[in-house]
Amino acid sequence: MPPSVAPPVSSPSPSTSRRRTSASVVLRSVLEHGPVARSTIARLTGLSPASVTDYCSRFTELGLIRESELPRRSQGVGRPHVPVDLDATRFVVGGVHVAVPYTTVALLDLRGRVVAVRELRHGRDGRGDRDGRNERADGADAHAVLARAADALAALLARAPRLRCLGVGFAAGGWVDRDSGTVVEHPLLGWHEVPVRDVLGARTGLPVHVDGHARALVNAERLFGRARGSRSVLQLFVGNVVDAAFATNDEVHHGPRSQAGAIAHLPVPGGTEPCACGRTGCLQAELSERTLCRRARRAGIVEGVNPMHVVAAAAAGDPVAARLLVERAGAVGRAVRLLLDVLNPETVVVTEVGVLHREDCLAALREGVGDDRAASVLPSSFPDSVLAVAGGSVALDVLYRDPLAASPEAI
Ligand SMILES: [Zn+2]
Repeated sequence: MPPSVAPPVSSPSPSTSRRRTSASVVLRSVLEHGPVARSTIARLTGLSPASVTDYCSRFTELGLIRESELPRRSQGVGRPHVPVDLDATRFVVGGVHVAVPYTTVALLDLRGRVVAVRELRHGRDGRGDRDGRNERADGADAHAVLARAADALAALLARAPRLRCLGVGFAAGGWVDRDSGTVVEHPLLGWHEVPVRDVLGARTGLPVHVDGHARALVNAERLFGRARGSRSVLQLFVGNVVDAAFATNDEVHHGPRSQAGAIAHLPVPGGTEPCACGRTGCLQAELSERTLCRRARRAGIVEGVNPMHVVAAAAAGDPVAARLLVERAGAVGRAVRLLLDVLNPETVVVTEVGVLHREDCLAALREGVGDDRAASVLPSSFPDSVLAVAGGSVALDVLYRDPLAASPEAI
């Protein structure tokens, strides 16, 4: 029987829910402060020392935490307080992220660090090159993509026989419904009502959790990134798909059927790009990587649809490539401003290729936002692994919300 992270119980009794919340609070405290003494956890969380000790014993039995090797001495007093810390050596989660041109498959440890990763380009033989010339996601047949992702995950796990996989997280852009585990609509991939949780679950034998990638990245920032501790966070993802997610007090807003965050057709001030919806200057049409690459191709800077080639050209001194990236970052900033005015989050995290790699793009982003709120806008905490982290974080969020559901019998 595979190890499991049970799916959230739909209507927990008040006592179950309280226990779950306390368990989550204690494990999050170890994640954020470890190595940390149990007495410190009690002080930080307001839980009783006896209750913290009890949770820590259960997490130790499960293998999620362990006593740290170096005891810390409390100040001035001789008695050592043996701190506890996450045990990041035993468990991983799988992460699957499906983008328009390729799938990212990864293993993440309990700290959200990528321990293994593979990219699989969509296509008939799966070995097409990453710079493919086609803009359409040819060969992105849903069942074939998911089958190859499951096989790649199995191969990564086979190479790490000492690591046990607690579950798989799946993230993608478009409209993704967490509760039903379905990609409802992803027009760029041509996916419609794809039961990802069932398909990946059957193929891997592991529990699978599914969410939209902007929401997945909000959770990653809350758990492992710079937005940790922020009371409200907005994540804006600007790739081929452009979407957003918003969390307050540790809860990501989903709305009915998880439709929140669909901002593809929000009008960008000053936008000129025609959109498939018939209007001009829609956020996704204006800011997508496809539009960036089309403009770069027209200027003779790159071939193909890989935005990293535009970043590389700018880094090599091409002024037009740099200008295209800076203009795009400025437009992203103006879009962020609109969202700031609506939602007023404490922190905004932007995942956009120029902003992640260039100071001038980050400056243009903040200028587009405006001086008064520029300081609350941050680039993603995961510049080199954002897609792998998005997939894995869907499963890690479930673990940190309900750690005791990781059954010791199964493990
Ligand atoms: Zn539109």
